[in-house]
Amino acid sequence: MTDSIGMAIAGVAGRMGQMLARAVMDNPLTHISGATVRPGHDWVGRDLGECLGGGPNGIMVLDDPLEVIAHTHALLDFTSPSATLGNAELAAQARIVHVIGTTGFSTADLKSLSPAARHAVIIRAGNFSLGVNLLTVLTRKVAAALGTDYDIEIIEAHHRHKKDAPSGTALMLGEAAASGRNVSLSDVEDRARDGITGARTAGAIGFHAIRGGSVIGEHDVVFAGDGERLILSHKADDRLLFARGAVKAALWGQDKKPGAYDMIDVLGLD
Ligand code: NAD
Repeated sequence: MTDSIGMAIAGVAGRMGQMLARAVMDNPLTHISGATVRPGHDWVGRDLGECLGGGPNGIMVLDDPLEVIAHTHALLDFTSPSATLGNAELAAQARIVHVIGTTGFSTADLKSLSPAARHAVIIRAGNFSLGVNLLTVLTRKVAAALGTDYDIEIIEAHHRHKKDAPSGTALMLGEAAASGRNVSLSDVEDRARDGITGARTAGAIGFHAIRGGSVIGEHDVVFAGDGERLILSHKADDRLLFARGAVKAALWGQDKKPGAYDMIDVLGLD
């Protein structure tokens, strides 16, 4: 266990938290060094292995992130924006790698993450799968090649419990399309059309969110031109995909300088 890298999991009771626990346990290079849940959760003070439905593993689930962050190499954090912002300050003080999968940050939230990246390695991605990160690179290239004669619309579908829209992945894809066109997404994004909207604005990037059932995550980037449509598409079938990507990112980050990174950096796709 001496060379094994300790990974702490924030929000371990969540859909992604449980997948992260599995991915860390399955990886021969890593072990679970700690786990948190939100205060008041009924897993607080219990053995994590038993909470996950197996035998005891000696890791007590805590509601205090400070305790957990002080004794780990990396924190895997797929929780909520407010929890992640608090964790980022503690992770920066402890100089550990903070892998952030949480989505739904406001622009102000993202700004307040920047100081933490001066002290710690922060790897944040709206999606930790290889396929979506490749899709991001392709989206940027296609947007640059086709120009504004082709209207870009991003359509995403997720399960009924998802709290934010558009998804973090849809925003990543929107950023990629905007960067391919050398514009800022905030200047061209068009969200949630309703009513008499008038004709489509040339150069806009539209977003549409479907919510329902148990859909893990589907994203289409549509390039609609006169007489043809090119559609780049990704479908996630298993949340373990994101969890394995997050563990890979945490391992990659161990010898990196403090700074803000994403999954494209981890995968060396740029
Ligand atoms: P979820 O609601 O099942 O899990 C979130 C967990 O965080 C909950 O158990 C909640 O109790 C816990 N939590 C909230 N505040 C906390 C705190 N202060 N301390 C400890 N735990 C706290 O949601 P989910 O489906 O697991 O998704 C979690 C986040 O990850 C969402 O933002 C989602 O969009 C994002 N996500 C990202 C990716 C990716 O690849 N980047 C993939 C899937 C989901």
